[in-house]
Amino acid sequence: MRLELITIGTELLLGHTIDTNGAELGLALAEAGIRVGRRTTVADDGDTIREAVEQALACSGAVLVTGGLGPTADDVTKRVVADLLGLPLEFQPDLWEGLLARFARFGRIPSDRNRSQAEVPRGATVLPNRWGTAPGLWLENQQGLVILLPGVPGEMRRLLEHEVLPRLRQRGAGLVVRSRTLRTTGIPESALAERVGEVEAALAPLSLAYLPGLEGVDLRLTAWELQPEEAATRLEAGVDLLRARAGEFAYGVDQEDLAALILAEARRRGFRLATAESCTGGAVGERITRIAGSSEVYLGGVIAYHNAVKISELGVRPELITAAGAVSEPVALAMVTGVVGCLGADVGVAVTGIAGPGGGTTDKPVGLVYLASTVSGTSRVRRIVLPGDRQEIRARAVQAALFLLHQQLAELPPQHSL
Ligand code: AMP
Ligand code: MG
Repeated sequence: MRLELITIGTELLLGHTIDTNGAELGLALAEAGIRVGRRTTVADDGDTIREAVEQALACSGAVLVTGGLGPTADDVTKRVVADLLGLPLEFQPDLWEGLLARFARFGRIPSDRNRSQAEVPRGATVLPNRWGTAPGLWLENQQGLVILLPGVPGEMRRLLEHEVLPRLRQRGAGLVVRSRTLRTTGIPESALAERVGEVEAALAPLSLAYLPGLEGVDLRLTAWELQPEEAATRLEAGVDLLRARAGEFAYGVDQEDLAALILAEARRRGFRLATAESCTGGAVGERITRIAGSSEVYLGGVIAYHNAVKISELGVRPELITAAGAVSEPVALAMVTGVVGCLGADVGVAVTGIAGPGGGTTDKPVGLVYLASTVSGTSRVRRIVLPGDRQEIRARAVQAALFLLHQQLAELPPQHSL
C-alpha cells in the first residue's frame, strides 16, 4: 500500500521545530509494509493545505496528515479537509462530553473554541485521543483515504500505534518495508560506487542508497513491500554482496559502531587499550568510553595537545618534533608507543593533525592527519588528508584512527579456541 505524508505547521517551514513526526511516521509505516511515496510540509494556511491534500489524494489515493487540529485559529486542517471531501462538520455531543470530563480532571474549564474539537466530518471515524484534546480522524470515501492526526509528537505517536497502524496493517497484507545497512569507512563515496556499481543491478528488487557522513559511507539496502521472510533473505544476501565489493572498507552492519567492535575484539584477545591524542583532544577516548563496559579493555589516554606534553608524558623525543614537526609520521608512532608503554597497554592508537582553520602550509595543509596504531609491539602509521571544517576534520580523524586500529586487529591470525 502506498501513502503520502503531509506535516502541517509554519514552525516546521521556519525551521523552529524539526519535523520529527515525519521521521517517526516514515519508520513506523515502513515496518507496517507501507511505502511512503512523498512527504510534504506545508504552512498553516487553508489554501495550501487543501492543495497539498488534493494532490496527494490524486497521486496516491491515501494521505496521512499531522498538525493543525488544535482549537486555535491557526489550526484549520479539519475544516479544510472536510470541505475538500464535501463533508459537513457535525457536532458530536459524546465527544464533547469526553472533552469536558478531561478538562474537569485537570481542573480546567473549556472555552468555546474547544467546541470545535468535538466537530467531526460526517461519516468520519473518530480515533479517540486519551493523551490530548484533539482526536484523530479517519476519513474514507471514493476520493480515497485521509487520516488526520494531531501534531503534538507524543499524541501523534500514540494514536499512530493504537489506532492507525492496526488498521493499516490489515491493508498491508503482511508485507514489510525493511532496510539493512552495510557500514564502510576510509573510502570516498565515488570510489565506493566504482566498486559497488557492477552489482547494483543484481541487487534488484532491493534499492540501494549511499549515505555519506562523518563516520564514512553507509550503504542502505531496502526491501519494499515483500513478505518478511523474503525481505530478510534478500537483504542478507544483498549485504553479503555489498560486503564482498566494499572489501576491507566494510566494518559493520546496521547500527554497529567501530569503537564497540574494537572493544569486543580486544576483550576476546585479552588486550588492554590506550590512546594518545593531539588534534582530537580526547574525542577518540570519548567514542570508546561511550560504550558500556569499556573499562574492561580501555585503560585511558593522554591528551598531548601541546608539544611539551607529548615530550613529558609520552616520551616523544624533542629532536623528533624539531626535525619532522608535531604533525608527522615519526611523532605519531612515538606517541602511540609512548602511551602504550606508559599505561602498560597491549594495543593503542594515536592521532596528530592540523584541524585548522589556521596552521596549514603547502607541505602540511589543514586536514593533514597522521594516525598510528600498535598491537602487541607491531606499529603502523597512516597519513590522510581530510576534508571539512575544524569539527568535521576532528570527527573524521576519530573515525579514521579507530579504523586503523580495527584493521590491524582484524588482520591478526584467528585465535585458537581451547
Ligand atoms: P498542532 O497540532 O499543529 O497544533 O501542533 C502542536 C505542537 O506539535 C506544536 O508545538 C508543534 O510545533 C508540534 N508539531 C506539529 N507538527 C510537528 C511535526 N511534524 N514534528 C514535530 N513537532 C510537531
Ligand atoms: Mg500547528
